[in-house]
Amino acid sequence: MRNVTYAKCVRCGKIYEATPDLTNCECGGILDIVYDYDYIKSVLTKEKLSQRASRSMWRYRELLPVEETTEDTPLRVGWTPLYEEPQLAKMLGIRKLWVKDDGQNPTASLKDRASAMAVAKAREAGAKTIACSSTGNAASSLAGNAAAAGMQTYIFVPERAPKGKVAQLMIFGAHVISVKGNYEETFKMSAAAIEKYGWYNRNAAINPYLSEGKKTVSLEIAEQLGWEMPDYLAISVGDGCTIAGVWKGLKDLYAIGFIHKLPRLISGQSTGCCPLNRAIQTGEDWYPMEENTLADSIAVGVPRNADKALMAIRESNGLAINVTDEEILAAQRLLGRTCGVFGEPAGVTGMAALKKACEMGLIEQEATVVSVVTGNGLKDVANAIRSAGEPLHIEPDLDLMVEEFGKRGVRVE
Ligand SMILES: *Cc1c(COP(=O)(O)O)cnc(C)c1O
Ligand SMILES: [Zn+2]
Repeated sequence: MRNVTYAKCVRCGKIYEATPDLTNCECGGILDIVYDYDYIKSVLTKEKLSQRASRSMWRYRELLPVEETTEDTPLRVGWTPLYEEPQLAKMLGIRKLWVKDDGQNPTASLKDRASAMAVAKAREAGAKTIACSSTGNAASSLAGNAAAAGMQTYIFVPERAPKGKVAQLMIFGAHVISVKGNYEETFKMSAAAIEKYGWYNRNAAINPYLSEGKKTVSLEIAEQLGWEMPDYLAISVGDGCTIAGVWKGLKDLYAIGFIHKLPRLISGQSTGCCPLNRAIQTGEDWYPMEENTLADSIAVGVPRNADKALMAIRESNGLAINVTDEEILAAQRLLGRTCGVFGEPAGVTGMAALKKACEMGLIEQEATVVSVVTGNGLKDVANAIRSAGEPLHIEPDLDLMVEEFGKRGVRVE
């Protein structure tokens, strides 16, 4: 890879050659992929990019850690819409708001960006089987992207993963192991199996290429905004791989001179499980928390990308905002009703955090903000119904319908 210099431990600084099957540093720290920005500047310009036909994450190849000979993965991952939302901006009391709907990825979450990268790197490593443990979306995205590429998957999910996500796994033909335990126990079991059978490892905690895939969301946002960056970027946080990737993408673009300003990150976590935000708020190290939230995709009590995530939030002078499950469900309805965007609970936690930050007076009225919706609401129908309620259940009688709506304060006209 001409554009990659090496991989470097974020904890001890040790340097490794960027082979496709990189895992953690021997000190236990996570590795970061380091690029040759002078080289990238010499081969990539905004003009060149604007003429490119590819409408997927592979559009940004020069900024991605893959060999030139590695094929694009088959599913169309990335290039999701960025909607400007003046009505919601007004409600929140900010100047401009855009919503990036990453639920429109092929398996309906931002995790497709990481899984497509995992498939590309597994191919480079000559692997036939990929494995991971996941609260749901890492798994379903891996299963789908691997199936399309003709690869096998072994997937370890905690028991409480919502049915929609498990259904995806089964349809994509994964070998699924639903572990009677929490995410931490599920993770340990997958690590043991991967070690034993030599499968390609798509655990975000270990594989440094995954956040490089996720960073493409920032590359897209920047290009979609004509390289004018917003003041803030709000996103939900679990393991921390996503927010770290978001920050990496922004810093890449800054380093090659495509953007001249870095947004402040808004890290949204649930009050019931917020180890990373708590570390930011207290200035102490993070420590494990229970996983008490209905936002299953971010119910991560032991975040595996803590170092990278905390660094990202701190470097960006970011905000750490915790929201209750009720606030998450309220944000889900708000996005649905004002934007027509349906996010799963974890998918809208960034928006819930933004709304709360606005209410707390932490965001200036002049501010411009991008909020990323990280997963589609159809993945978790039970919580959507809980959020939005039941329809009118009545006999097939029009007068009765009008009467019943009337009782609920709705005039049918
Ligand atoms: C995984 C996930 C997140 C959080 O990403 P992390 O890398 O775990 O911080 C947020 N939203 C959705 C929908 C996810 O699937
Ligand atoms: Zn190290």
